[in-house]
Order: sequence, then C-alpha cells, then structure tokens
Amino acid sequence: MPSFVIAEKCDGCKGRDKTACQYICPNDLMVLNKETMKAYNQEPDQCWECYNCVKICPQSAIEVRPYQDFAPMGSSIIPLRGSDSIMWTIKFRNGKIKRFKYPTRTTPEGGVDPYQGVPESNPANLKSEMLCNEAGKTLTVPQK
Ligand code: SF4
Ligand code: SF4
Repeated sequence: MPSFVIAEKCDGCKGRDKTACQYICPNDLMVLNKETMKAYNQEPDQCWECYNCVKICPQSAIEVRPYQDFAPMGSSIIPLRGSDSIMWTIKFRNGKIKRFKYPTRTTPEGGVDPYQGVPESNPANLKSEMLCNEAGKTLTVPQK
C-alpha cells in the first residue's frame, strides 16, 4: 500500500522551500498544498513503498501500510530516526507492540573524511583507467 500523510500531524515542514518528504522521494510523488500546508502523495499508484518519506518526516506524519509478506496483516510500522540509530515500532492489530533498534552508522556524525587516503589531484591522471583511490598502483596512461 502506498504512503499516506496523516494531516493532523503534518506541519508542512514549517513552510520551507522544499519539504523533507519532497526532497527524499525518488519518484517526486510528494507535494505540499500551500493553502493547507499539508503534504500529500499526488500519485499513490506510482509509490514504490520505499519508506524514505516515512523515515525522514520529522513529525512522523507519513505511514505506509505494509504488505502481508513483509509485516503482519493490519499492523503499522513506524520508524523513529536518531543521529546514530533507527527505532522501528511494530504495532500488531491485536495491540501488541514490538520495537527494534538498529545502528545506522559506525562513525560520529560529521566525522567522515571522504578524501582520507586519496592522493592530490593530478590532471595527467584523467587519462588513466585507475580510480583516484587506487593509490599505490601503477597508473597506465595511454600513449598517442
Ligand atoms: S516531511 Fe512530514 S511534516 Fe514535512 S511536509 Fe512531509 S509529511 Fe509534512
Ligand atoms: S514511500 Fe518512497 S516512493 Fe512512496 S512516496 Fe514515500 S519516498 Fe516516495
């Protein structure tokens, strides 16, 4: 079942240029009604049920009704993101609740240096078939 917005919880991401759900949807499905400041899925039959919008919504205002092969029928699945983990709350139709918490990163937030170990750029290497992080390997530059 596609994603849907619980209007009472949605605050339109406080009127920012682009809402979090618009930013994250890989299929550009989420739109914001500027009058009501509520978001909605404009084309539910195109929804991939990827849960990106569900996970990113700061108000927990988006839900996806899961299929039976993935979660028990009639249950709801609500994620809560932390800075280093995500907690999934599964609410079964008989009221039973289960929670699962998983780490989402192995380094402190902001602690990653994407260029660590990568050599200084060298325009001559543009003709090389090697990747920039293949330091120490012999570069083969095709000769004309
Ligand atoms: S991310 Fe959540 S709060 Fe923000 S506009 Fe979308 S549904 Fe509303
Ligand atoms: S579940 Fe995925 S595809 Fe569907 S609206 Fe949300 S982000 Fe887009």
